Amino acid sequence: MAMDVWHLQLPVNARRDHGIGSVERMIDIVVLRLTSEGGQTGWGEASPWSVFTGSAEASFAALDRYIRPHVVGRHVGEVSAIMALAAKSVAHCTEAKAALETALLDLQGRIAGLPVWALLGGKCRDTIALSCSIADPDFDKDLTLMARLREDGVRIIKLKTGFAGHAFDIMRLERLRTDFPEFSIRIDYNQGLHHDDAIRCVRDVASFKPDFIEQPVAHHLHPLMADIRNAIDVPLLADESVFGPEDMQVAIDHQIADGVSVKIMKTGGLTRAQTVARMAANVGMSAYGGDMFEAGLAHLAGSHMIAATPEITLGCEFYQASYFLVEDVLEQPFPVHNGMVQVPQGPGLGIRPDLDKIRHHAINAVERDNV
Ligand SMILES: [Mg+2]
Repeated sequence: MAMDVWHLQLPVNARRDHGIGSVERMIDIVVLRLTSEGGQTGWGEASPWSVFTGSAEASFAALDRYIRPHVVGRHVGEVSAIMALAAKSVAHCTEAKAALETALLDLQGRIAGLPVWALLGGKCRDTIALSCSIADPDFDKDLTLMARLREDGVRIIKLKTGFAGHAFDIMRLERLRTDFPEFSIRIDYNQGLHHDDAIRCVRDVASFKPDFIEQPVAHHLHPLMADIRNAIDVPLLADESVFGPEDMQVAIDHQIADGVSVKIMKTGGLTRAQTVARMAANVGMSAYGGDMFEAGLAHLAGSHMIAATPEITLGCEFYQASYFLVEDVLEQPFPVHNGMVQVPQGPGLGIRPDLDKIRHHAINAVERDNV
């Protein structure tokens, strides 16, 4: 196989504030292309966020410098061996490893004529309910977005809280419950609450009966997560506290949550994401298909993973390609219809990225022809 890597900056249409940090003007992603000896291609995306998982520069270096020697010259059928070598070749950089496994499975699927979900155990669903995040510091802009979501058939939102004070959060919840009663509401603090204040704030928010409340405090505060969980009658989800299966075991041991946000960018790949979801289900915890600030290529990988993972029952948040990016990187729009992600049925990921768009948005690239 040959390997090409691009670092892209993609313009976005709004500002997003989270408890952990903000995004405006653009997001950074890294795109990987593998080319087989026969000339077929497989694509993957790393979607890092510097304050959460890591930087695009680190993802780029992980793929181009540290993982490349374990890929070039190898056979695409050696996915497990390549992923094991990648895991040992560079610490962390989970987004790069997710991009690698995505591209390997896309290439394998293209050659075999099978969708990626078929390579992950087979599908259990054809659609996935879409959740869109409400996170603009200008709430009027989010109300405009809410009207568009309602028109489009979306019926789940995730309100990002904990970045501009408790009163702002309560005001928005009251308005959303009044003006948009047909929506399910989920809450995500992204670690935004101070430990002194956390239980009081979360109790107030829980009175609005959201589907769940996600990661109110810092990722390492396991005893406080357990206390908050016991203080409310709404499910508590762990996100930043659980990256891979190793963290999931800690979360189970300390009983920090009722559910977990599963993201391939945190776990370091699609199969490890399936493992996290299964560990959760084994102890009666729910699983949600979360994401980072992604383009459509990463959404596709997540969709195939969720399609093959019955334990993920709470839908997904693959909204950026449709509602946040000025222009996505795929040849066709990421498939969403009436508020439901449509799982692709064609070989590999089912939809290819547009090479012209990738080159247009690239700020760094290594394109080589060494198969
Ligand atoms: Mg989250």
